[in-house]
Amino acid sequence: MPIDGGKAGKKKEPKEEDESKDINSELKKSLTTAIVTEKPNVKWDDVAGLEKAKDVIKEAVIYPIKMPQLYVGKRKPWRGILLYGPPGTGKSFLAKACATETQGTFYSVSSSDLITKWLGESERLVRSLFEMARASRPSVIFIDEIDSLCGSRKSGDNDSSRRVLTEFLVQTEGVDKDLTGVLILGATNTPWELDIGMRRRFEKRVYIPLPEKQARKILFKLHLGDTPSSLTEQDFELLAEHTEGYSGSDISSLVKDALMEPIRKCQAAKKFIVTEEGYYIPTAPSDPKGQPFTLLTLPDTTKLIAPLISLVKLNTKP
Ligand code: ADP
Repeated sequence: MPIDGGKAGKKKEPKEEDESKDINSELKKSLTTAIVTEKPNVKWDDVAGLEKAKDVIKEAVIYPIKMPQLYVGKRKPWRGILLYGPPGTGKSFLAKACATETQGTFYSVSSSDLITKWLGESERLVRSLFEMARASRPSVIFIDEIDSLCGSRKSGDNDSSRRVLTEFLVQTEGVDKDLTGVLILGATNTPWELDIGMRRRFEKRVYIPLPEKQARKILFKLHLGDTPSSLTEQDFELLAEHTEGYSGSDISSLVKDALMEPIRKCQAAKKFIVTEEGYYIPTAPSDPKGQPFTLLTLPDTTKLIAPLISLVKLNTKP
């Protein structure tokens, strides 16, 4: 049963229309579980580096919403932007920042989810997704792992994925498909696997590289946040130097693990220094000032102080 809302010139019987509405609302319900529409809380400044990509996205979504008067004559915002590059470099993160900063509705969908969870339905979900995005413009459709949705021959050339691909092409190009105010943001690690037709839909393609030294330094600082640490500017410099080839996601995991290190130290401690104010700080077994306690035998665990994160704990060796 077609659910495309009725093309011009094709009138539906009332019963057929009711049925179509039912299916449509059913699909929209399913779609809300497959896509994320809420606003994540990621600011531009939370994204380290990637200045070029940020600028392109601002050109395409932020400025047209905030300053529509600038987009006159032939100057039109980008309709499709493809973010491509190695995994874990912040493509989805950037999309989240875009969602936070736009005033419009943000739809985020993972292609592999669509294909695996919604097999058979995915084609209609795609249609509904575009319908909803058009109805609530200005809007951004973010499609993660777009290669698995629109992969060319090689990646699972089955009937279903081919139909989904066709639906995408129909939705993104067609005389009756007005996409003004709808930005399609795609992300992929393997742009060469994209169908040629699909790739053409993304007028602007932005390479998202592994972070440079300066960006890695910012990443360490961002992920550490306001967690108490003894790290100096020089330490951050050293960390950035020793993490060449790390992605933003690698650094995030590294710091996450290091953040737990003081807890582990408390857990393993056999001696604690007792401060004048009655606080307990774990210390080395050889420390003569330490008193013999363990985490379980501390008289007052609410007075336990975790040691600061230091460079030793943030060591970058695998
Ligand atoms: P991708 O979509 O490119 O595979 P993600 O955006 O999912 O990568 O990144 C995974 C995680 O790594 C993010 O949630 C974020 O915590 C961290 N990260 C990656 N790149 C950056 C960056 N440039 N700035 C801040 N955090 C980043």
